[in-house]
Amino acid sequence: MAAGTDTTAMMHTLRTVFGIHEFRPHQREIVEHVVAGGDAFVLMPTGGGKSLCYQLPALHRHGTAVVVSPLISLMKDQVDALQANGVAAACLNSSLSAEDASDTLRELRAGRLDLLYVAPERLMLSGFLDMLRDLPIALFAIDEAHCVSQWGHDFRPEYVKLGELRGLFPEVPLLALTATADDQTREDVRQRLGLADAPVFTAGFDRPNIRYTVEDKRDAPRQLERFIAQHPTDSGIVYCLSRKRVEQVAATLKKKGVKAAAYHAGMPAPARSKVQDAFSADTVHVVVATVAFGMGIDKPDVRFVVHYDMPKNIEGYYQETGRAGRDGLPAEALLLFGLQDVVTARGLIERGGNPEQVRIEMHKLSAMTAFAEATTCRRRVLLGYFGEILEHDCGNCDVCLDPPQLYDATVDAQKALSAVYRMGERFGAGQVIDVLVGANTEKVAKWAHDQLSVFGVGADRSRDEWTSIIRQLIHHGYLYQDIAEYSALKFRSGARGVLRGETVLHFARPRVRVKAEKKRKIPRSVALSGSDVDEELFERLRELRREIAAEQEVPAYVVFSDKTLADMAARRPADRAEFLDVFGVGEAKLERYGDVFLEAIGER
Ligand code: ADP
Ligand code: ZN
Repeated sequence: MAAGTDTTAMMHTLRTVFGIHEFRPHQREIVEHVVAGGDAFVLMPTGGGKSLCYQLPALHRHGTAVVVSPLISLMKDQVDALQANGVAAACLNSSLSAEDASDTLRELRAGRLDLLYVAPERLMLSGFLDMLRDLPIALFAIDEAHCVSQWGHDFRPEYVKLGELRGLFPEVPLLALTATADDQTREDVRQRLGLADAPVFTAGFDRPNIRYTVEDKRDAPRQLERFIAQHPTDSGIVYCLSRKRVEQVAATLKKKGVKAAAYHAGMPAPARSKVQDAFSADTVHVVVATVAFGMGIDKPDVRFVVHYDMPKNIEGYYQETGRAGRDGLPAEALLLFGLQDVVTARGLIERGGNPEQVRIEMHKLSAMTAFAEATTCRRRVLLGYFGEILEHDCGNCDVCLDPPQLYDATVDAQKALSAVYRMGERFGAGQVIDVLVGANTEKVAKWAHDQLSVFGVGADRSRDEWTSIIRQLIHHGYLYQDIAEYSALKFRSGARGVLRGETVLHFARPRVRVKAEKKRKIPRSVALSGSDVDEELFERLRELRREIAAEQEVPAYVVFSDKTLADMAARRPADRAEFLDVFGVGEAKLERYGDVFLEAIGER
């Protein structure tokens, strides 16, 4: 299809096909640039609206747009969503039957496809490339483009060959899109894809609707349970570092009556896609997963992401938390942060890779740790990492909402440091804390630690408080954990000065628990449209959507998003013309669903 390059025509397509009434920041620039034939590198946060940057140009340039995407499930969802909007889209990947694949090829050759999603290894087959060369190609879009770089955190060898595209199709616009790239990765991706001269479009990284919270990990299962209890019917993801932990946590949640499921790379593919489908269909609310779960998750109404274990770097953390709240509604990101996590992560890093890789990963880990230990606005730390400066504190993170109070921690620090010293710098935090609080454990007896002068000097504080103090001593560079020696705490140079009383320390007062917020839960429909949403109707429309989605075997949001249903429940359209004014309704969806939904709205 080639509907012209002028802005009015594009706005028309935006409205009638996608049901969207205005561009988000940068989308217009990018779309106009690509429609005019330019290359582009697009860096936009998850949920920022990257897809539109190539889907709209696909409809305004002659020929088929070829979209490279690393994951089959992601392709399928995008194609379903496009087809629901009446766009001629299809995909080619290893999951298709030979028959379906040849159907798709026939459509492609006949010039009947606006968009073709294809796996990278498939695209780069020489026979396939030869065929494409004889066809009009509207553009190439490479999604998750960071996968081409070894600097990134998600390198995929099958992406490397994509570097040849620019040279093979010099006339065709090439777009690379990613949600995650530090400077180094970004430059590497541009070099590798032949986009060194292409303009870079960077949309702000901030996701203001996500609330970032870090809690000290004390009793993780209970902390998780409490958190999920605040989100009874919401969709959420819980990330754990190991498969074993995934299984455990999922089992515990299920026992508590949560509609939870486990997901990790060790499960057979059919079981994995079953979980993914159930999550999309809202029959599973909480997916407990390793990082294997995610890239294919396009679900816009994920309300929370919990990190049960600390991720290894901020890129990963940011990408994973970014899966929450893509619809723009309030969402939560909770990180449970334990001292042991840092040790485990360091161990994992040190075991693998060449020295240079280890150095980079260690550096990334320490940035992650600094984020978790920050006593200033989390969003500032996060955005700062991506080179973005926030003018004000965000007001929507745990630090902003419940600022830590500083207190004179000199005496506490001296107690902790002298315990470490008298125990010979040979024990980890757990044993040091046992000694401080005066716990009579077997291990204390075995080492005669109860004979030390420091035994019980810290009995006035809880274990949690001591954990926090020791963590801050590490963070501020007075102690370190020697991984080579079972994470024994050891002195750094400044520690003696503290013991001698030469240094005054101000630490954050240990937060024994982040105040259980009694915030009144704003119904999501109201939070969304801010207007008079009929709650009863909204729920009824959701039910209708669930039925239709089940019948058509597509994810619920492919039918309509929550945002669309809320807008519908607020406007209460009475006829087809009014129905078209609803956010997210284009002509195809009007045809397909207009009558049933209008009827449901008319019922009282
Ligand atoms: P990502 O950048 O993660 O690929 P998507 O392209 O999937 O993000 O878009 C995320 C959500 O934002 C989708 O539900 C999409 O419909 C919506 N969206 C994209 N552009 C706009 C817009 N201009 N106005 C309103 N919603 C939009
Ligand atoms: Zn903040």
